[in-house]
Amino acid sequence: MHRRQLLNLLLAGTALLLPWSAHAVQIRNARLWKDADKLRLVFDLSGPVQYKTFTLSAPERLIIDMSGARLSGDFSRLPLANTPIHSIRSGHFGQGDTRIVLDLNEPLQLNSFQLPPQQGQGHRLVLDLSRAGNAPLQIAAAAAVPQPERAPNKPHPKRDITVVVDPGHGGKDPGAVGARGEREKDVVLAIAQLLAKRLKREKGFSVKLVRNDDFFVPLRKRVEIARQHQADMFISVHADAAPRLTASGASVYALSEGGATSATARLMAQRENGADLLGASTLLNLKDKDPMLAGVIVDMSMNATIAASLQLGGSILGSLAGITSLHQKRVEQAGFAVLKSPDVPSILVETGFISNSRDSQRLVTARHQQAIADGLFQGLQRYFEKNPPANSYMAWLQESKNNRPA
Ligand SMILES: [Zn+2]
Repeated sequence: MHRRQLLNLLLAGTALLLPWSAHAVQIRNARLWKDADKLRLVFDLSGPVQYKTFTLSAPERLIIDMSGARLSGDFSRLPLANTPIHSIRSGHFGQGDTRIVLDLNEPLQLNSFQLPPQQGQGHRLVLDLSRAGNAPLQIAAAAAVPQPERAPNKPHPKRDITVVVDPGHGGKDPGAVGARGEREKDVVLAIAQLLAKRLKREKGFSVKLVRNDDFFVPLRKRVEIARQHQADMFISVHADAAPRLTASGASVYALSEGGATSATARLMAQRENGADLLGASTLLNLKDKDPMLAGVIVDMSMNATIAASLQLGGSILGSLAGITSLHQKRVEQAGFAVLKSPDVPSILVETGFISNSRDSQRLVTARHQQAIADGLFQGLQRYFEKNPPANSYMAWLQESKNNRPA
């Protein structure tokens, strides 16, 4: 083929593509119908759309990508109560594409198709969701009082809330070292073990320690342990060091996707990340997915888990306030590698300053270690009472409290 012919062909192709790219399809609205055995979600569009769908598990998600589509509607008012859809999120990726993520309570089968304008309706993308073998979805009527998401005759699963407790540093990495040789790795192991013991005593909690002895665990491995156990919460226990020896008290950190909230937070993140530096991309177990698409999902779940982490952090600061002085009165945020788990809300607690002689003298005593562990436990418990994970024993407890006659 001559070069000119090739060029003409390319130009022709571009011309054909132009109408798609010049006029982005608008996603104007979403509507939801509940049927005995089917859930129908309809997107009202300004025109036909190119789309694809795929699913991800643990947690179950259904992803709908619409190319050249812009979101102009609002999904927040969809009546999702009593449906297998837990939440709907959306975001932009690529050049003007939109991704919609349905967080599902269980795996569902999807049948999707587009409808042209008819009977006063415009272009539509229809998603029909059903259980395998068309088993009934057991959805209550829309007007009914919201019920828990389980079928009424099934027993409550009352599953345990899984907390992964991560004693910082260990082995070749001592962490901060005090004036009298106090080592962060020993102090935080003792506190973490006491916290684990306290959680094990409490009905409805199960706990996993990242290390139960003095050995080194890479940051990446710590995050993997949290994800492997499908943890409801990851809590990393540390004790600070600062060049200014008067610095004292406890602080709580959550991950920030953007910049650090303070210079201290930035320095802390650099120091805690120092043991083994790594990039966020190596943490993600989404290798089989298009990396760009995977990135959008990660961003979205990151935002949700950071919000939960900040709430838990606030609760823990509240309970530590009675036990130790606070270095920071609010939850600080920075790019801690150990907190970069897209699905698991994660916080890092600096229990005090090893570099401060008063703090470190207290931190090595069994009595203060127990008090800090109790404070962490109370903070966790208060958080989960307010935000019980679906199907947990704590959720069952809160539901039966609410249903008790006044
Ligand atoms: Zn540390």
